[in-house]
Amino acid sequence: MDGQITDGRTGRLWMCKKHEGHPLGIILNENGRERLLLFRMAINVERDNVKIIVLPPMVVMGLVEGTMYDIECNLCGAKRTWWIDKKITISLLAPMYDKSLTK
Ligand SMILES: [Zn+2]
Repeated sequence: MDGQITDGRTGRLWMCKKHEGHPLGIILNENGRERLLLFRMAINVERDNVKIIVLPPMVVMGLVEGTMYDIECNLCGAKRTWWIDKKITISLLAPMYDKSLTK
């Protein structure tokens, strides 16, 4: 399910692991790379069979690009880990493999 934040950007909601979960953040796709805009507090949202939920103004904790373990939902206590985007990992590792091939 997608969400829209107050500045108009949209992205897939990143939910806690509880059944039907609570949005912990929103996945922003910028230049083909996924980053997590992590909310300070999980949001209780109404699901009225809409495709995009317009989120209320919320405080953002930060933008996660790497891996962040055990992000806890303040509403239900469920924990979830955000894993670094594969494309970012590949872009970080590629130069090392290029060097090893040329030696
Ligand atoms: Zn939750």
